[in-house]
Amino acid sequence: MSYSLTSSRNQTFISTLREKGLRPTKQRACVYGVILDKRDHPTADDIYDRVKRHLPGTSFATVYNCLETLVGCGLVRQVNMDRSPTRYCPNLSPHAHFRCIQSGKIYDVEIDKDTLSRMQALVPEGFEAENLDLSFSGTGTPPHD
Ligand SMILES: [Zn+2]
Repeated sequence: MSYSLTSSRNQTFISTLREKGLRPTKQRACVYGVILDKRDHPTADDIYDRVKRHLPGTSFATVYNCLETLVGCGLVRQVNMDRSPTRYCPNLSPHAHFRCIQSGKIYDVEIDKDTLSRMQALVPEGFEAENLDLSFSGTGTPPHD
């Protein structure tokens, strides 16, 4: 079973890679696709398991290289929390993360424009923030789970 991206995703994927002079290979498309399909902040291992369902025979090294490429060209963002393995997130808008200590699940926390500009005002004078890396952790009962 191969993997195909929906047409709008495919356009973003192809044009972003081409801008960087990179080829839109089927492995890269599949890695990108599985990250978009289930937005649960998977680790490289999780992604490897999901990719293998579509492209059996793909090696972990290939998946890892694809991830590096996708992060490098800005299609996917790396999320590092505590000492846990790196997770991957396709949400490129400025947002924070919340990690549930009990389940280990990671949730996106949207940051509205006002909050974002107030946070940017905290950056030392003379500097401008290009990235935001903010994470919360705690416990609780999410309403939708
Ligand atoms: Zn995220």
